Amino acid sequence: MLYKDEAVVLRTMRLGEADRIVTLVGRDHGKIRAVVKGVRRTKSRFGGRLEPFSHVSLVLWKGKSDLHTVTQAEVMESFRSVKEDLDRYSLGSVMLEACDRVIQEAEDSSRVVNLLLDSLRRLSHDGSPLVLAGFLLRLSSVAGFAPSMDRCAECGRPASWFSPGQGGAVCPGCRSFDAEEVGTSVLELMSDLVAPPAPAPRAPARPRSAEEAATAGRLARFYTEYHLERRLKSAAAAEAMSRF
Ligand SMILES: [Zn+2]
Repeated sequence: MLYKDEAVVLRTMRLGEADRIVTLVGRDHGKIRAVVKGVRRTKSRFGGRLEPFSHVSLVLWKGKSDLHTVTQAEVMESFRSVKEDLDRYSLGSVMLEACDRVIQEAEDSSRVVNLLLDSLRRLSHDGSPLVLAGFLLRLSSVAGFAPSMDRCAECGRPASWFSPGQGGAVCPGCRSFDAEEVGTSVLELMSDLVAPPAPAPRAPARPRSAEEAATAGRLARFYTEYHLERRLKSAAAAEAMSRF
C-alpha cells in the first residue's frame, strides 16, 4: 500500500552497500522506519534529501514488514544553518533524539512535528541553549508529563527548589533530598519558555544572565531525561507483563 506523509528525519543508518534505513517522525504516522534504496550511489535520485533534520514530503510503500520503503521524497526545509553549525547541530541533535524516544509507531504526531519544526526554525536564527530548554519542556507537556514551574508541585505554595522526581518546582517545606535550590528567577525563566507566545511582545522583567540560562537548560534536560527514562522503563515493564 502506498501512502503519503510529511516528516522530519531523526536518524539514518547504513544498510548493505548502497541502501540506508531512515527513522522519521511523520505528522500522521508517528515513527516511521523505512529503507531508502540506492541512496549511497552517486546517481541516486534521493541524494542528500533524507538526512537528519530534513523536513520532507514523502511517498512510502508499506508491505507486510514494519520496515517501509521510501518511493518519493521532496525536501520542504533542509535546516542547513542547523546542520552546518556545530553548536546548533548539537542542540538540534538532542531534540531529534528526544523525539525518537517520545514518539511511538503509528500514532498521530502532528503536535510533536509542529513543535519540532518550530524549534528547529528558532534554532536556525538563535543558537541559544534556551531554544533547546524550551523545546524539551514543551515536549514534556505534549508527552503528558508537564512540569510545574510557577508553584510547588506538591502543595501549590511559592517555590524556589526544583526536583524532577517531584514534578518540577517545589517549596522548601516539600522538597525531597534530591531537590536543588535554583531560585525564583530561574523558575520564572523556565515558565516563560513554555508560555504560549503573547499577542504583543512583552518586555522581559530584566535581562537574563548566561548563568540563569545555563541552569534552566540543564534543569530542562534533567527533567525530560528523568521522565523519559521512567516512561521507557514502564513501557518495557508493561510489555514484559503482557507476556504472562
Ligand atoms: Zn510545597
